[in-house]
Amino acid sequence: MNGLLHGKRGLVMGVANNHSIAWGIAKTLAAHGAQLAFTYQGEALGKRVKPLAASVGSDFVVPCDVEDAASVDQMFGEISAAWGSLDFLVHAIAFSDKGELKGRYADTTRDNFVRTMVISCFSFTEIVRRAAQLMPAGGSIVTLTYGGSTRVMPNYNVMGVAKAALEASVRYLAADFGPRGIRVNAVSAGPVRTLAGSGISDARLMFNYQKRHAPLRRTVSIDEVGGAALYLLSDLSTGTTGEIHFVDSGYNIISMPHPEALKT
Ligand code: NAD
Repeated sequence: MNGLLHGKRGLVMGVANNHSIAWGIAKTLAAHGAQLAFTYQGEALGKRVKPLAASVGSDFVVPCDVEDAASVDQMFGEISAAWGSLDFLVHAIAFSDKGELKGRYADTTRDNFVRTMVISCFSFTEIVRRAAQLMPAGGSIVTLTYGGSTRVMPNYNVMGVAKAALEASVRYLAADFGPRGIRVNAVSAGPVRTLAGSGISDARLMFNYQKRHAPLRRTVSIDEVGGAALYLLSDLSTGTTGEIHFVDSGYNIISMPHPEALKT
């Protein structure tokens, strides 16, 4: 099945390099005919994102730092001037101080709590509100979350709290914009080795544990996350909104690892 996004235009936020989940999504969307624009955070990442964008036929690459309201304004101004409208948007952005992605959640500082929430959660609300203005005929929006939102993962700490708030935001935004034909969903990905992922203490241990104990006995690729995003952003999922869709080899359904897996 090809061309599911033929004739559709969308914005992908959160590519840092070719390991980024957003890049796995972008490749999949482009392979299905989408015309893409990209944002990048800071000139150093811009140098990586521009050639990646070019490889999927896009020269529409604009800076955007979601901590800076003026930067978000400017970016939406450029999208609006160039395209006038958007069909879909991907938000794959998160940040927390590495020093707090270890130890106890209880020791989170006020400053990092606020910064983590602004970048990893509030940015989604602001971006959905702005993107919706460019979706007069409806659209579809996807963000990225992780199962540490509802169950405790060692070291995930304040990011788990931000993801819980992000998932609640998905539901509230889906209700706000549903009457205008704009769908809002999240993909909850299993652990992937990325720049952001490596900031979590003992990331390798967590990666290997989930690989061993997930029903599929493996982790997921960024292309598999891309497949789920394609479903949620295309007309295949027109009846679905406010959903948290897991792409985690089934890890989220497990209560206790299989005894056989514990013996090895
Ligand atoms: P990544 O490092 O490739 O991407 C994170 C992106 O966030 C980067 O492009 C970075 O520039 C961007 N970002 C951070 N602060 C920003 C700011 N102030 N303004 C604009 N952009 C900013 O890592 P990734 O793992 O691909 O992360 C993408 C999303 O996937 C995140 O929401 C992450 O929490 C989520 N996720 C990751 C995993 C994993 O195991 N890697 C699992 C589930 C969900």
